[in-house]
Amino acid sequence: MRKEDYFFDCACHRNTHLLRFYLNHDDKDFPPELYAIILLNKKSFFKRLYIGIKYILGAQSEYGYFEEWIFDYNYIKEFKSMINDFEKYNNEWVQSLEITE
Ligand SMILES: [Zn+2]
Repeated sequence: MRKEDYFFDCACHRNTHLLRFYLNHDDKDFPPELYAIILLNKKSFFKRLYIGIKYILGAQSEYGYFEEWIFDYNYIKEFKSMINDFEKYNNEWVQSLEITE
């Protein structure tokens, strides 16, 4: 199986805000897959425990429990290229199914 990866930094350029996509293709038994890896910030044990207790008790920040990632427009060509590759590999996979039928 071939795998291609794409990295997109957050527009804020914080090194913990990185979005990484993997595009798997060339597996005859499965359609191409595009999936994302999200880097979670590592915090100390006591900080994680404190956050966990707050979470169990239902506390929530004004932003919820999500981290943000801001799309940097400078990556628009690479992002379109990734989506086009995903579409191309998916179309090739669908065509391969039609040929074998
Ligand atoms: Zn950021």
